[in-house]
Amino acid sequence: MLDRYQPGEHALTVLEMIRHTLAEICDGEADAAILSEFPQHWLGNIVHVALPPNVPEGSAELYSIPRGKDRALLLLTRDAQGLSVFPEALRRDAMASCTRAWVVRCGTALHFAKDMVQPENFADLLAWAAACEPGLDTRLLLAAKNCFKRRCWLFVMAPNGCVGAQVKLPPLIDKSIQTVQFYRRILDIIRNKILVTRWSGTPMHTDFIFDRNLGTQPGLAGRSVVLVGCGTIGSHLAKFLAQSGAGHLGNLILVDPDTMSPGNIGRHWLGPGQVGQFKADACRDELKAMFPSSNIRSIAESILDRKSVLAKADLVIDATGEEALSLALNEILVRKRPLGPAAIHVWLIGNGAAAQCLLVRHNSLEGCCLKCIRTSPAASSPYWPLVVGEETQPVAATCGEAAFVPYGVAAPAIAAAMALKACLDWSRNASEPNMRTIRVEFGATVEVPDTTPKPIFDCPACGQR
Ligand SMILES: [Zn+2]
Repeated sequence: MLDRYQPGEHALTVLEMIRHTLAEICDGEADAAILSEFPQHWLGNIVHVALPPNVPEGSAELYSIPRGKDRALLLLTRDAQGLSVFPEALRRDAMASCTRAWVVRCGTALHFAKDMVQPENFADLLAWAAACEPGLDTRLLLAAKNCFKRRCWLFVMAPNGCVGAQVKLPPLIDKSIQTVQFYRRILDIIRNKILVTRWSGTPMHTDFIFDRNLGTQPGLAGRSVVLVGCGTIGSHLAKFLAQSGAGHLGNLILVDPDTMSPGNIGRHWLGPGQVGQFKADACRDELKAMFPSSNIRSIAESILDRKSVLAKADLVIDATGEEALSLALNEILVRKRPLGPAAIHVWLIGNGAAAQCLLVRHNSLEGCCLKCIRTSPAASSPYWPLVVGEETQPVAATCGEAAFVPYGVAAPAIAAAMALKACLDWSRNASEPNMRTIRVEFGATVEVPDTTPKPIFDCPACGQR
């Protein structure tokens, strides 16, 4: 879309980009970009591909996932296991639509040879395949011949993507075919009268889902993550963790003994439909609906009654925001040193005026613990961001509701996002500052630089006793 205030200049910029792109194409410099986007250049209908990149050559299954009236998403997968990313109800509908397909592997990048365009018929398809890789045409033809009495769907998996073709015999001939020998002979003698519908694959396997947005950085897949607290910060963080791979290959355990109340709704990830449910269970149910194949468990009890879940954790996240509970958890983890998990504590200060988090590495005897940075009074800490006179202002208890600290959803969402970043930095073993502060209310806070706090010699938790 053109910039409405400078349309002329913008149009000239676009023309210059076109000139530059055409020059690159003429010089052959655009070949790599075109190769990497080959499925788009195939100009086919979209098919979602849930095959892992190393899938062997052989039969596959094609499912139609309902997407409302007259709409469906087509999914290519090795078998029904590929449907595991969809909720149960959709899986049942999809199972009824299962169609056989055949996947042929191509070791070289898919491309169009000189003067070759997108195939329209079976003869073109085989010619394109032969030009891509010697012998690919023979294997495609063999796969097609094995499709007798099935709708013939052929897909080619290559390092630069997956494309497919649905082979359609002329209707009169299709009706007259009685034997497999005749069918195979038809495929040989009227190839240019057999039309093909092209399909362009777009990846949808679980590794792609959880890795795509993290680039080369590792996410949380394969890790054992325990999230303590599914309240205002924890509920948003639970979703961020699952999106970043927690629960995929590894596991994600949500721990919180509280139930959802109407007063939570304005700043919690969950809504009115979950009032009265345990927050941990309700968060797990929502996440399982989004990521059915992920290994996500909930424990609707205090972590102090279920300390055993900490034993196998790689990462424990404390989003309780309760000073006493956080320090009790810190004490448990400090006692596991130097074989303990990493811990990330995240909390809000004042009425959501600032968000802070601290990474503690309990796999070492070095480094501070949570108690090292918790001074009394809190305002004497060098990490305290509230300005004098901006102390926490709770709302007094009223009929039917306990006292609470008012703030909107922005502060816990910011805190959750900051904690997630700390989790991902831990996962890639980055040497980022262990303690981070984000100011939410600028008038109520001062700048606290991100830093890695030093341990306190006489810390009652981790110091010399
Ligand atoms: Zn300490």
